[in-house]
Amino acid sequence: MMEAKEACGVFGVYAPGRDVAHLTFDGLYALQHRGQESAGMAVSDGENLTVMKDMGLVTTVFDERKLSGLGGDLAIGHTRYSTAGSSSWSNAQPVYRGAGRSGFGMAHNGNLTNTAELAERAGMLPGLVASDSDLVADLLAAAHAGGDGPASELEAALRLVLPDLQGAFSFVFLDAERVVGVRDPNGFRPLCLGRLEPAAGAPEGWVLASESPALDVVGATFVRELEPGEMVVIDGTGVRSERPFPADRIDPRLCIFEFVYFARPDTRLYGNEVHGARRRMGELLATQAPVDADMVMGVPDSGVPAAEGYARASGIPYGQGLVKNRYIGRTFIAPTQTERANGVRRKLNPLRENIAGKRLVVVDDSIVRGTTTRAMVRMLREAGALEVHLRISSPPFRWPCFYGIDTPDRDELLAATRTVDEIVTFLGVDSLEYLTLDHLVTAIDAPGAGFCSACLTGTYPVPVAMPARVGTVAVLAGATSTTAG
Ligand code: SF4
Repeated sequence: MMEAKEACGVFGVYAPGRDVAHLTFDGLYALQHRGQESAGMAVSDGENLTVMKDMGLVTTVFDERKLSGLGGDLAIGHTRYSTAGSSSWSNAQPVYRGAGRSGFGMAHNGNLTNTAELAERAGMLPGLVASDSDLVADLLAAAHAGGDGPASELEAALRLVLPDLQGAFSFVFLDAERVVGVRDPNGFRPLCLGRLEPAAGAPEGWVLASESPALDVVGATFVRELEPGEMVVIDGTGVRSERPFPADRIDPRLCIFEFVYFARPDTRLYGNEVHGARRRMGELLATQAPVDADMVMGVPDSGVPAAEGYARASGIPYGQGLVKNRYIGRTFIAPTQTERANGVRRKLNPLRENIAGKRLVVVDDSIVRGTTTRAMVRMLREAGALEVHLRISSPPFRWPCFYGIDTPDRDELLAATRTVDEIVTFLGVDSLEYLTLDHLVTAIDAPGAGFCSACLTGTYPVPVAMPARVGTVAVLAGATSTTAG
């Protein structure tokens, strides 16, 4: 059960003559799973930008009255992940800066790894930089010519600033006339492009989104994923693609956990639907770690496709063992371990008639701290399960993420400090097996594709500053990060 906080969702639309505020609302609603802390959008009518953002879910922040006041031809939007610690209006996005002729808006999914270095170079005190996203907006604003430059000044500023950024970033920007999408040279976070039917007499419409279901929901046709290191500029002339980063920095490393947990099952990544990859993870888990049992069940929601795959490959009947409260957030974030464990009862409830007297194979996507998994196992035993054999559709999560997922410190990661046998005892299960990394990559079925798997292997594709107390990796100087998004 993934207890790490999620990535953010970004959306952009260029569609003169269409109701871009409603389109952005629908797109953000489809990306709600990537962040439930805040939501916002910036809309341009060709002259002025209007930004509206607030704390809460997309449906809390926007209503019909607000949307109808947001007329325009182009827009960007953002959903931000849920967190207890840094939940504040100032971290909501899009970020706005009044630079250039019209000002610009920006929405960010990811996490820079050289925020302190960039701040220092720009003569700012790192401690006073509100977030990595704010810093990027400040750097871009400083790179504008002060309102006298050409209409395409945002593009020029991006060409200047982007090559200095390190880490994970899928951005969408807008000024009065254009929407811009950027994916970092490693492509840690997804970003895709879709085509939208134009309004009568209007130029072709285009959509950018973190995940392809946000294209589907607004009626756009999937065109392609942006390449790592690509910038696309969308305006009245169509879509232009540029490569603002040095060629030797291009190294595709899409987050492997997008396949395991973060992305929606109906999202297409590296050309494949995520649901199929999750089902294959379960099939490979069944061949890798078979067990004699009466029923296979998945931990809702993201463990379910892998459980179906396990059942199919093993021949053991699939059944539902847990019911999830649909109205609770995708992740339940509580400030203490005790509250987190209690939170499982609010989120999941056992189907006692399905479970009682059975030897269960329980398939889940991951174990981070293990607190919620332990509470879930206890719940199944109290409901009468004879045996609980836990099968995890990813390798042990041993290292923190610095690329846009807010994971706990390393000493809170269950697999960082314990052997599998010790984890079996801690969780109170009869057996435990993790899918191997080789099998995970096989299940994703994207030959030749590159992945980040740093939280599983400790090998970070972009240098990060690791707290010295975790001990076993070199501390790389000059890199730090601020907020995830
Ligand atoms: S460290 Fe893990 S969660 Fe973070 S980007 Fe890499 S694979 Fe994804």
